[in-house]
Formats: sequence, structure tokens, C-alpha cells
Amino acid sequence: MSQPKVLLLGPPGAGKGTQSSNIVEEYGVDHVTTGDALRANKDMETEHGTPREYMEAGELVPDPVVNEIVKAALEEADGFVLDGYPRNLSQAEYLDDITDLDLVALLDVDRGELVDRLTGRRVCEECGTNYHVEFSPPEEAGVCDECGGDLVQRDDDNEETVEERLDVFEENTQPVIEYYDEEGELVRIDGEGTPEEVWADLRAAIDDAN
Ligand code: ADP
Ligand code: ADP
Ligand code: ZN
Repeated sequence: MSQPKVLLLGPPGAGKGTQSSNIVEEYGVDHVTTGDALRANKDMETEHGTPREYMEAGELVPDPVVNEIVKAALEEADGFVLDGYPRNLSQAEYLDDITDLDLVALLDVDRGELVDRLTGRRVCEECGTNYHVEFSPPEEAGVCDECGGDLVQRDDDNEETVEERLDVFEENTQPVIEYYDEEGELVRIDGEGTPEEVWADLRAAIDDAN
């Protein structure tokens, strides 16, 4: 089987990062995520300012900056799971021009649940593993099960910025979902089950598509 090329869509907190880790482990593909790439380069000077200003406000970083990141990462990847991009129609059109996808999957989760997931999210400073204080706690509070690193809360996972990010999603990224849906390419996955249940459905969709 060739290496799958998967686009994982869904609102902030839907479980894209969590499920991307499963895809990477199962299929050995690259995890291409604009969020992590931008966090690693928050203070990079661009014509449009630094990513930090946009990220801390919950706004989208300008298209030329993220398009460049994605193009470089996809050129190097055989198979991949793309997470956090495209977030508006112009990014979706750019993506169409640079690659072919095997599967476009949407993790469907209600807004109320997303706020709870995002405000309780904790991330390992060292290895990036995701936890949740209530839904997916580590064995020892504040310590990563995988590597012993410290668990921290992202700057933008406070309630005010979370609400802004969800508004930005509804305005800018919902049309991206409709775009793939109209092309008949979108597979909807119920994202509200346990992480294991969501993974079972997602893996089946990837195997069907590949
Ligand atoms: P995204 O990358 O889409 O923003 P994450 O994978 O970081 O989402 O998940 C957001 C938060 O929700 C994390 O704290 C994660 O542990 C938790 N989470 C992920 N999947 C589930 C699930 N199926 N049920 C409950 N909580 C989940
Ligand atoms: P989440 O899935 O929890 O919303 P991400 O880590 O994907 O978080 O994104 C964090 C922030 O990085 C976004 O709020 C936005 O400021 C910026 N960002 C990430 N991906 C993109 C993108 N494709 N276009 C513009 N900005 C982006
Ligand atoms: Zn860790």
C-alpha cells in the first residue's frame, strides 16, 4: 500500500492533533501541522509582522506565511497527515494546486464540547503529546507519560481566545468544509466519541480510501 495523503479538517479542539499522532504511528507518514510550525517560529519577522501577534489574538496568520510552510513540508513528504490547514478558501485553492489528496476527513464536534476540550488541554513542552486535565489526564499531574516533560497550557487556550478562534473557524474555515463537501470528497467522522472510537472510524476511512 502506498503512503496515504490525508487532510484532517475540524474546528479547534476537535482532536486533529490527537488523531494525527495515531495516523503517524499506524502509517508512518509525516505530520504536517501549521500550528506547531508557527509556534516554533512565533517571532519570525515576515512582511506581515510576526506570527505571535495573530496567534495570541486567535486570528489567522496571513496566507503567504502559511502557504510557504505547507509547500515546503509537502514537497519533502511521501505520505502525510495535514492538520490545521487549509483554514480559508484561498488556502484550499492553493493546496489544490500543489498536491492530490487521498482522503479529506472532518472531525465533527459541537461548539460547547470544544470549549471544554480546549480550556482543559495541556501539552508536553518537550514532545508535544496532548493531554486533557479531565478527559485524558497523565498518570502524574503535570508530567508527560511519554517523556517525563512538563505539561503546559498554550497561551491561546484561555476562554476568551478560544471563543475568538471558534468564531474565526465558523467564518473562515466552515466554507472550506463546504468546498470539499460540494466536490463530494468529504468524509464526516463523529468526533464526539472516545479517542479510541474516533480512531477506529478514521482508520477505516483511510483504509477505504487508499
Ligand atoms: P485539535 O488539534 O483539533 O485542536 P487536540 O487533539 O489537541 O485538538 O484535542 C483537544 C483537546 O481535547 C486535548 O486536550 C485532547 O486531549 C482532548 N481530546 C482529543 N480527542 C478527544 C476525545 N475524543 N474526547 C475527549 N477529549 C479529547
Ligand atoms: P487549534 O487546532 O487548536 O486551533 P492550531 O495549533 O492549529 O490550533 O493553530 C493555532 C493558531 O495558529 C491559530 O489560531 C492561528 O493563529 C495559527 N494558524 C495555524 N494554522 C493556520 C493556518 N492554516 N492559517 C492561518 N493561521 C494559522
Ligand atoms: Zn512528552
